[in-house]
Amino acid sequence: MFMSHQSLHEAINSIIATCNLMPEVFRDGIILCDRAKETIHVSEKVCVFTGYTQEELSKNNLFSLIANCSTLFQKDTVQFATSIKSKQGQMIPIIVYPKVIQLHEHTLFLFILQKQLALKLPLKSYFLAQFPNRFLFLHEMLRHAITHSHENNTYGALLLLDINNFKIINHVKGHTIGDYVLTDIAKRISLVVNTLSVEHLNGDEFAIVFQTQSKRYHNAEEKIRILSTKILKAIQEPILIENQSFILTASVGVVPFLGEQYTPEKIIQYADAALHEAKKYGRNSTHFFSPLLQQKREDKATLLERLQYAILHQQMSIFYQKQWKHTIKNNGINVIGAEALVRWIDPVHGIITPEKFIPLAEESGCIIPLGTWILHETLKQLKLWENDPIKCEWQLSINISIKQFERDDFIAVVQNLVQQTACNPHKIRFELTESLLVQDLTNSLKKIEALTKLGISLSIDDFGTGYSSLSYLKRLPIHELKIDQSFIRDLITDNADVILVQTILGIGKRFGLDVVAEGVETKEQYEMLCEMGCAYFQGYFLSKPIEGALL
Ligand code: C2E
Ligand code: MG
Ligand code: MG
Repeated sequence: MFMSHQSLHEAINSIIATCNLMPEVFRDGIILCDRAKETIHVSEKVCVFTGYTQEELSKNNLFSLIANCSTLFQKDTVQFATSIKSKQGQMIPIIVYPKVIQLHEHTLFLFILQKQLALKLPLKSYFLAQFPNRFLFLHEMLRHAITHSHENNTYGALLLLDINNFKIINHVKGHTIGDYVLTDIAKRISLVVNTLSVEHLNGDEFAIVFQTQSKRYHNAEEKIRILSTKILKAIQEPILIENQSFILTASVGVVPFLGEQYTPEKIIQYADAALHEAKKYGRNSTHFFSPLLQQKREDKATLLERLQYAILHQQMSIFYQKQWKHTIKNNGINVIGAEALVRWIDPVHGIITPEKFIPLAEESGCIIPLGTWILHETLKQLKLWENDPIKCEWQLSINISIKQFERDDFIAVVQNLVQQTACNPHKIRFELTESLLVQDLTNSLKKIEALTKLGISLSIDDFGTGYSSLSYLKRLPIHELKIDQSFIRDLITDNADVILVQTILGIGKRFGLDVVAEGVETKEQYEMLCEMGCAYFQGYFLSKPIEGALL
């Protein structure tokens, strides 16, 4: 069956009309052509961003302006990231969605061009193919921006923008409203940055590629800041959903780049890192990537890798620092126990002290296997002391991380290890920090009671540096306070420290707790503390931490 010329004409008009029904943000241009690549229709928008008039476009072979245009006519092309050459000779990155339309004997090709936005869901509903690769278009945009930056020696930038707490909208209002909100935000962004490239990435993330036209970093940074502030402001305008007004905010991570300084992959990775920082330090802000920050992140990642290796390959060792008791009667002093202090014996870097790796171990979760290993090793050591006529009297202090203590299986792990090593739990003292106790007092109380039942006693480490609330002292069965080193350091010269130490000694006395002075480094400090009535000591003045075998 053949179509009459008039029917064909009507069908074409109807295709164009359908395309025009698409919200503008999803299409930056429409091209309709026939099998011979003769253009039938070119939308006004194509003229706007290429700089050609419609007449010029129809005279020129439009397809010669599109890079690798033959791909567009391949049957299986569902979308294609490429570029179109403007009249000024600029290569404008575009993404093209081709659609073959068969009208009886006539084969037509419809191309929808997107310059600014690529929105996943609505596009799907507009019969176009799925949106496969999250970063496909972004890579293309970045490649162009890098070339532009390189050729002009001006800074380009990638801004990654993430809507704060967007999940709430999806959860409370459902995904349809969520998508509507995203579309609205996309529109707002594109209004602010109308000449730039914007892509809607997954979920609530948007990417904006910006050519600053500035040759100096300082100027480029200022321009980016102005742009970002404008975007953030536009997003903050209230949005009306079902007669309810919502205010959304966003965070922005920025990577300025000059020429081929970074690959597109690196730019995206760095922008992700900057966005992460923006979210961490006060949302609704813009954070610039800094090479120093990246260096820190990379160092941290390397350290974590090494730490995991060290834990697995027995590069950890336990040192012990003796704890002493002063007796007023004969002014004598004797060892009453030791504190276990972990060390990382690195084959290259030597001994690494815990403050360099415990925080990372806590953050990464490594502290759980490491803490269990420390417990096991120290309890084995305690068991060995039983055979020594002097050490059999010693008590063993073990530092417990908040992450270990928080675990539901903490008590079970301790119980198992006590049984396994057959040590005397009455000789074990756990050192906990105040923050650990205050966070969830009821839960802490339950665990502490369980530990007390096992026979384990408890000490508050770094006492006085944590929280001002001391109410936990009356609720928890605690046995010892350890005065933090920071109060001992300047004890001789700083009267404020004298008052603080006296106060802590007073609290200990009233509550019937042992008080240990930590970090006692000099004879003067030791003597002054003795005079003040302190009975328990730990510090370099008396002994340094050493390996278990050397004790
Ligand atoms: P902490 O529990 O308060 O341990 C006391 C720290 O003071 C130890 O540092 C010890 O070597 C140091 N020290 C002792 N006497 C003196 C002195 O006279 N002067 C000075 N300047 N320092 C002294 P270390 O071993 O580097 O441990 C630092 C922190 O790391 C510990 O503070 C503790 O919070 C944590 N830590 C150590 N071992 C472990 C462990 O096995 N598990 C856990 N979770 N944390 C641990
Ligand atoms: Mg301690
Ligand atoms: Mg301490």
